[in-house]
Amino acid sequence: MSKNLYNEAYLDEYIELVIRKGINLQQGQVLVISCKVECAFFARKAMKAAFEAGASNVYMRWVDEICNRTRFLMADDKVFDTFPAWDKMFFDSLSNEGAAFLNIEASDPEAYKGVDSGRLSRSSIAASGALKDYFEKVITGEVRWCIASVPSETWANKVFPDAASSDDAMSLLWENIFVASRVGNGDAVEKWDTHIDTLKNRVDSLNNYRFKSIHLKNSAGTDLYMELPQKHKWLGGGDVAKDGHHFLPNIPTEEIFSAPVADGVNGTVVGTMPNVFRGNLIEDFSITFRDGKVVSFDAKVGKEHLEMMINDIPGMDRLGEIALVEHDSPISNTGILFFNTLYDENASCHLALGSAYPDCIEGGGAMPEEERADEGLNVSDNHQDFMFGSADMFIVGTTADGEEVVIFKDGNFVI
Ligand code: ZN
Ligand code: ZN
Repeated sequence: MSKNLYNEAYLDEYIELVIRKGINLQQGQVLVISCKVECAFFARKAMKAAFEAGASNVYMRWVDEICNRTRFLMADDKVFDTFPAWDKMFFDSLSNEGAAFLNIEASDPEAYKGVDSGRLSRSSIAASGALKDYFEKVITGEVRWCIASVPSETWANKVFPDAASSDDAMSLLWENIFVASRVGNGDAVEKWDTHIDTLKNRVDSLNNYRFKSIHLKNSAGTDLYMELPQKHKWLGGGDVAKDGHHFLPNIPTEEIFSAPVADGVNGTVVGTMPNVFRGNLIEDFSITFRDGKVVSFDAKVGKEHLEMMINDIPGMDRLGEIALVEHDSPISNTGILFFNTLYDENASCHLALGSAYPDCIEGGGAMPEEERADEGLNVSDNHQDFMFGSADMFIVGTTADGEEVVIFKDGNFVI
């Protein structure tokens, strides 16, 4: 890279935010950083910031999607049903030792276009199975982790196809990442403290209503009823890990989320943003549920990928997440489609097929899978978000006494 495509001071502020508020790295802790080779400069700075924040050691996991793609095209077919034992050991041993995990995302939405989707799906099933213990620690807050994004050229060009050059597209994407992450005045950490308070207050008021069900409706065609588990909890504004330290699994984050009863969803949801599943685009889609289960679906683009998403892995034919995101938020206000779930899901109300976060019910983090299922949560080895929010989203909650409370009007919270 010949010149900096970002404001140096903003970048330092962003990295500080990721290490201090995202991971909330503690004195003497080990950090694992996963990063694409294209963004090495970012990982190098993040490593330095981590040591300055007190890390005892930092391990790198370099990712190269071009090599990965070559492997998917050329490796022996049987390798896609296995996951390397040494790689499993890496995640298991470091998570057992209390390491934190920073994932720097610089996704190319079409990295695996043209790769045999069977290979992609078998390899993801093998990884989900092998890393089950690690993922369990991730979703139960036993490890602190954070995902943050860095532009890649392919991603930037996808988001800004009309930019004069790739460099211009990269600069634009950097600017918008900073805006969406409330970075730019040197006070991102303080701004996030305020933002987290706002989210936490809304979480508290939603939890106080103890809604039995909610009804979501908009002019795009969504008309969906969902029951909430008796012990449901709304969550948002980050997480508190089992060690008592707050962290932000995603930067940025705007969502307040819970989980529906796995067999208590009825009606249709219409997607309002394209979805990327294993590098493949799914657009203009709708999904219909009866008693929680997907009974029909359609998509103008990528219907075969939507079918794979729903049918490939057990539990992906039911919902595991309902997330409320205001239409008026820094990300949404950029008006940009990021083609990146981390950003797009924080610009729009979304649902997820697949696993529910255990903490969405009281005591869920300590419950074995079967018990969580008994309490109404969906269980799966996968979790795929998709967006359905709009400027006219209307959501009403019904309490146990039958009282109706408007939660969302014209795309924003009214409670
Ligand atoms: Zn979410
Ligand atoms: Zn999700």
